Amino acid sequence: MANGVSKTNLKEVFGENVFNDEVMRERLPKNVYKALRKTMDEGLPLDPSVADVVANAMKDWAIEKGATHYTHWFQPMTGITAEKHESFLNTVTEGKAITEFSGKSLIKGEPDASSFPSGGIRATFEARGYTVWDSTSYAFLKEDDGGITLYIPTAFCAYTGEALDKKTPLLRSMEAVSEQALRVLRLFGNKTAKRVFATVGAEQEYFLIDKDLYLKRKDLVFTGRTLFGAKPPKGQELEDHYFGSLKERVAAFMKEIDIELWKMGIPVKTKHNEVAPAQHEIAPIFENANIATDHNQVIMDTLKRVANRHNLACLLHEKPFAGVNGSGKHDNWSLATNDGQNLFDPGKTPHENAQFLIFLSAVIKAVDEYAELLRASAANTGNDHRLGANEAPPAIVSMFLGDQLTGILENIENGNGNEKREREYLRIGVNTLPPLPKDATDRNRTSPFAFTGNKFEFRMVPSSASVANPNVVLNTAVAEVLKEFADRLEKADDFDAEVNEIVRETIKNHKRIIFNGDGYSEDWVKEAEKRGLKNIKNTVDAIPAWISDKSINLFTKHGVFTEVELRARYEIKLEEYIKHINIEARTMVDMVKKQIVPAVIREITDVSKSINEIRLAIPNVDVEAQLELLNDLQVNLNSLRKETLELEKELENAHSFNGDIYEKAAMFRDKVAEKMKQVRIYGDKLETIVDENKWPFPSYEKLLFYV
Ligand code: ADP
Ligand code: MG
Repeated sequence: MANGVSKTNLKEVFGENVFNDEVMRERLPKNVYKALRKTMDEGLPLDPSVADVVANAMKDWAIEKGATHYTHWFQPMTGITAEKHESFLNTVTEGKAITEFSGKSLIKGEPDASSFPSGGIRATFEARGYTVWDSTSYAFLKEDDGGITLYIPTAFCAYTGEALDKKTPLLRSMEAVSEQALRVLRLFGNKTAKRVFATVGAEQEYFLIDKDLYLKRKDLVFTGRTLFGAKPPKGQELEDHYFGSLKERVAAFMKEIDIELWKMGIPVKTKHNEVAPAQHEIAPIFENANIATDHNQVIMDTLKRVANRHNLACLLHEKPFAGVNGSGKHDNWSLATNDGQNLFDPGKTPHENAQFLIFLSAVIKAVDEYAELLRASAANTGNDHRLGANEAPPAIVSMFLGDQLTGILENIENGNGNEKREREYLRIGVNTLPPLPKDATDRNRTSPFAFTGNKFEFRMVPSSASVANPNVVLNTAVAEVLKEFADRLEKADDFDAEVNEIVRETIKNHKRIIFNGDGYSEDWVKEAEKRGLKNIKNTVDAIPAWISDKSINLFTKHGVFTEVELRARYEIKLEEYIKHINIEARTMVDMVKKQIVPAVIREITDVSKSINEIRLAIPNVDVEAQLELLNDLQVNLNSLRKETLELEKELENAHSFNGDIYEKAAMFRDKVAEKMKQVRIYGDKLETIVDENKWPFPSYEKLLFYV
C-alpha cells in the first residue's frame, strides 16, 4: 500500500498494476501479441482463439500480483461505473483450488444488471444485458482494503444489441471521426496514417473537506451539495487559495493519489489549489478519448477512496457551496494520427497550415451547428447551479479563437474576390500562417469552448459526470462536418481553391459562434441573443436536444446511436433529474423539520428566558436588543415553516403528476426547485442570527476553512 511511502521511483511505480504493452509482450506468444496489438491500434476484430491465450496470461499475471478476483468493469448510463466481482476459483479438486479464466469469460460477462437504467430498451423481466471486453483499454489491478482485483474495461449492451452504456457510443464516435478525418488527410496527401484518434485530457476539479464535518451535513451526504449555508465572512475574494501552497494534510492526500493512480497507469501530472477555498484540481496527460474517459472514472473513484483514508471527504459535485466557484471538468480535446501528428497543430508550412485550417473550420462549423447537443452533453442537475455563475462559463455555447486567429480567418473571408487587396491576405496553400503563440492574447477563462494553441478546451463539462458524452458529441459532430468537406474536396478540380472556399464559407456562415470577449458579462448575453445563439439555462431545457431530428440524423448516419438508444437516453436523463431534485427537496424538508426548527426554538426559548430573568433583576430595564432578536427569530421561523410546508405540497403535486416525463421534470424544476430557493433564504437568514453553538450543522466557515 502507498501509506507511509516516502521515496517513490516514478519509473518503477508507473503502470506497475497494468496489464500493459510491456507485460503483454513479455507474456504472450509473438503471434498472439501481434494479433492483439492490431486490434488495439487499428480497431480490427479480435480472433476468439487469441482471447483464450490472453485470458490465461492475464489471470497468471494477476494472481502472481496477489489478485483473487476479477471484474468486468463498465459504465452504465448513470454516469458512475459498475462492477461485480468473481473470484478466479473454478473448481476445488481434492481440497485444492483450481483457478481458471477462459477467453470466453474475458470477452463476455453477464452481470445481473437488470436494475441499471435502460430507458425502456430492456424491460427488466427479460434478457439481461451483457458486458464485452474492450481490448483497447488496458486491464489493471486495483488495490484497496477489499484486496486486489483485476479490472477489465468492458462495454455494456442489451441482448438486442443496443448500447446500455457510455463506452459503446464513445467507441463508435471515435470510429466515425477517424474514418472521416482519414479521408481528409488522404486528400492532403497523407498515405501513412492508419487511424485518427480523438485525444482527451480531462482536468478534474474537486473540493476536499474534513470528513467529520461532512458527516454532520445530511445535505452533503445525500445530495453532494449544501442546501443551506450562510456566507462566511471570508470567501474567495482574496484569491489567496489559487495556486497557493498546499496544506500538509492536503499534500499528503495528493501524494498518495498520485502514487495510486500511477500504479494503475494513469498519467496524472498536475495538481494545484483552485480558486475557491478547499478547491483543488488534478490533471492527467492526455490519452485517446476512450482511455482518458476510463481513466477519469478511476481518478474520481480514487479521489473519493483515498480522501476517506485521510479522514477527508472529496466532493465532486458541480456546486457544493453557493457563492464560491463550482467545479467543472475541462475537457481538452484534439485529433491525432496514430503516428502522433496533432491535427490542430497549425504547423509550419503552407501545406500544413491549409490542412490545419480545414480541420479548424470543421470544428467551428460543428460547434455552431451542434451547439445545442454540446450543451446537452454537459447538462446535469449540479451544473444548473454552475453554468453562468462564479467563474463558470455561461450556458451559451460560443468559441474562443483569440484575436490573431480570428483576424486571419476574417482576412480569408474578405480576401476572396477582392483582387486589389489580395496581396495583404493570406492565400491558403501558398502563404504560411504567422506563428500562433499558445493562448495568443490572453487566457480567456470565460469561454466555454476555447482553442488553446493546438487543442480545444470544452469547459462546460460537469465535474461529477463522465466525459464520455461531451466527447461523443464532439467526435460525431466533427465527423459529420469532415464528411461534408471530404465529399466536396474529393470532387474538386482545383483542390487549393476548394480548400480556400470551404474555409471562407465556414467563417462567413459560422462566425457568430466565435466570441473572444468576456463571457461573464451581461453584454455578451444580449449580444449572443442578437446573434441567435441559444442560452439554455437548465438541464430540463437542454435534454430534448438529444432527440431532435438533427440529433437523430447525425447520430444514426454515423452509427453512433440508434434512434431507440437516443430516446432511451432522453428518458433516463429526465428521470435522473427528477430523482435528484426529489432527493434534494426531501433532504431539505428533513433538515428544516428535524434540525433547523428545533435549534431555532431552543434559541427563542433562551432569549425569552433571558428577557424574563433580566426583568426580574432590573424591573424597568430596556430589553430592546433581545426583543428585536426574538422578533427576528420568530418572523423568520414562521416564514421558514410556511415555505417548507409549501415545498412539501409542491413535491407531492409533482410526484402525483402522471403525464409526460418532460412535463414532470419541468414541474420539478419550476415548482420544487424554485420553492427550495425560498426555503433556503429563511434557513440561511436564521443561521446568521442563531447562536453558532446551537446551529445544528457545521457552517461554511468550518467546511471551507478547517481542513
Ligand atoms: P492548460 O493548463 O493551459 O489548460 P495544459 O497544456 O496544461 O494546458 O493541458 C491541460 C490538459 O490538456 C492536460 O490534461 C493536457 O494533457 C491536455 N492536452 C494537451 N494537449 C492535448 C491534446 N493534443 N489533446 C488532448 N488534450 C491535450
Ligand atoms: Mg485548462
